[in-house]
Amino acid sequence: RERATARTFTPPGATKDGHRVELLANVGEVAEAGPAAASGAEGVGLFRTEFCFLDRDDEPTIDEQVEAYSAVLDAFGGKKVVIRTLDAGADKPMPFLTDSDEVNPALGVRGYRTAWHNPDVLNHQLAAIASAADAHQADVWVMAPMVSRVEEAESFVAACEAHGLRTAGVMVEVPSAALLAGPMLARAAFASIGTNDLVQYTLAADRLLGALAPLSTPWDPAVLQLIQLTCAGGRAQGRPVGVCGEAAADPALAAVLVGLGVTSLSMTPRALGDVAALLGAVTVDECRTAAGLAVAAESAEGARRAVREALPVLA
Ligand code: PEP
Ligand code: MG
Repeated sequence: RERATARTFTPPGATKDGHRVELLANVGEVAEAGPAAASGAEGVGLFRTEFCFLDRDDEPTIDEQVEAYSAVLDAFGGKKVVIRTLDAGADKPMPFLTDSDEVNPALGVRGYRTAWHNPDVLNHQLAAIASAADAHQADVWVMAPMVSRVEEAESFVAACEAHGLRTAGVMVEVPSAALLAGPMLARAAFASIGTNDLVQYTLAADRLLGALAPLSTPWDPAVLQLIQLTCAGGRAQGRPVGVCGEAAADPALAAVLVGLGVTSLSMTPRALGDVAALLGAVTVDECRTAAGLAVAAESAEGARRAVREALPVLA
């Protein structure tokens, strides 16, 4: 049920019994930053930097990047802004970096993998982020997309440190990253679960293919189990684990994610009010009960039904 106007959000996000859940905005281009800040978002949980690189034949200059990143940091004052490094490849082809001849681009050289043999683009981007962060005294966190091995977490953290960026994290978008969340988070400062891709790679269902839409839901218990594992890794290492995929914008699922141990939710700003309202109507114990039922279900529909029955506020 979509409301014509979005419900307003008054921070901070928390459950009825005061368990804090940071509620953050996803930002995909500079023009979205002002409205996102005005929505009450506690910060930015996913700043997609691709807009700066798309539709060009060459890499943007460091100065161009500093200007774009600065505009977003500026809109959010000193609040937390999680900047994702370039997620090139697959649905975001970039001629100067990715190969258009791949047979299977979703499984190809994309995201952080593009930096294995061509680290320059990443290093220029980290230099621009560091420069914008210095100028704005911002709470800048940086994360890499499509990390699938522990050694990648390690090398990304090292690359960030070389630019003075101390809060470096990994996105959990493929099952291997979820399964290895413990050792990943022994290196990285935080994890952010990209449920759009995590669903795609768990169900082996192209996220852009309408015919596979019935498979493409973050309510799938297999996906929820991977989120649960990621949270367990975060807890073991004392690291925060956020969700920045579309799952975070579904109020009932947000309660499940909190019950699984997710510490922040980042979403399109217009969803913040509804997610905050639902969380404010449930206790963290109710979230944990709902989460237990959802991960134990045998289907996405079964998980939804169990959660609907467990949370009276959804009746
Ligand atoms: C995701 O995969 O869930 C995500 C947040 O990244 P994107 O949608 O940009 O791939
Ligand atoms: Mg993704």
